[in-house]
Amino acid sequence: MKVPFLNLKAGYDAARDDIETAVLSSLRSGWYIGGEDVASFERAFAVFCGARVGVGVANGLDALHLSLRALGVGPGDEVIVPSNTFIATWLAVSQVGATCVGVEPDYATCNIDAARIPAAITTRTKAIIAVHLYGQPCELDKIGAIAAEHGLTVLEDAAQAHGATYRSVPIGGHGNPVAWSFYPGKNLGALGDGGAVTTDDESLAERIRMLRNYGSRERYVNEVVGYNSRLDPVQAAALSAKLRHLPVWNARRRAIADLYQRGLADVDVILPHPVEGATSAWHLYCIRTDLRDEMRQRLEGHGVETLIHYPIPPHLQDAYRSLGLGRGTFPIAEKMAETLLSLPIDPMMTDEQVQHVVDSVRSIAGLRN
Ligand SMILES: *Cc1c(COP(=O)(O)O)cnc(C)c1O
Repeated sequence: MKVPFLNLKAGYDAARDDIETAVLSSLRSGWYIGGEDVASFERAFAVFCGARVGVGVANGLDALHLSLRALGVGPGDEVIVPSNTFIATWLAVSQVGATCVGVEPDYATCNIDAARIPAAITTRTKAIIAVHLYGQPCELDKIGAIAAEHGLTVLEDAAQAHGATYRSVPIGGHGNPVAWSFYPGKNLGALGDGGAVTTDDESLAERIRMLRNYGSRERYVNEVVGYNSRLDPVQAAALSAKLRHLPVWNARRRAIADLYQRGLADVDVILPHPVEGATSAWHLYCIRTDLRDEMRQRLEGHGVETLIHYPIPPHLQDAYRSLGLGRGTFPIAEKMAETLLSLPIDPMMTDEQVQHVVDSVRSIAGLRN
């Protein structure tokens, strides 16, 4: 049996009529930048997240970058970022000319360890980026309390967390600006690149709308040095159509995660640790084992495709060599990079495929003693 890591074609087919109706109507409208398709997706997505406003942008990295700029973060500032995250979280900080200050993850949840944040705060610290990695919400109440005490802004990176909840409130509804990605492989993915920022702060939204549009609110009047970073109407139309399917797809991800949690409970690997008071969006299902590379190879022999999120932490990338953060700087993130293995959790997987993954891992890993 073959189990691909992600079957985007099957996901497309599951919503094909809705997507094609929406996209065709957008194509035939004669309106190809901004307009009603973008505005109506922005409204629908904000409602879905429990936020007051949504602003579509070109991708998730720009959602982070434009948010930081709109929040006034710039050269000389420090931003606290998780040491265990996708590189884009760090890149956004660098793009505004600020400095990344890494903080180690909690060993159980893989998300930024709130208890370690205070020690990383200096007089230059401006913001904390809380990344809901793998779809698991981070401890927003603890992070929010630390931020409030030190007068810092929290920006959430929810590129992997569409539909996750924390303390029964959807991610997006906790009062912080939130950056989203609609990269095709995310829980809500476009037919290409896309992103958004959601916020309750209308003036922040207004600054991001200006930044995404050459720094201009009124045509040919430029108030700041901006960018061209807009969400295409065709993508917005497709996203509106897919958003209606998202609750069902996320429920399927939860069901698969549940089958994994139960089927692998006695196996000698570390399973994802559910965050207390939270519902994960289960963007990824990451197990950990010291025999990761061997496990990956043997699963491939069973027809099971796996990936590693992520094999090299940001601080060890050549791009960040100038920070001088060598091996050993963030040992927990480094250990995660060496042991994490993402099993397929595509909502289009059949129960038989899920069972095959469970059986394969069981046959390779052995039981815990
Ligand atoms: C995907 C991702 C991004 C970047 O989104 P793009 O749309 O690919 O630019 C940022 N942060 C995290 C955690 C991501 O997973």
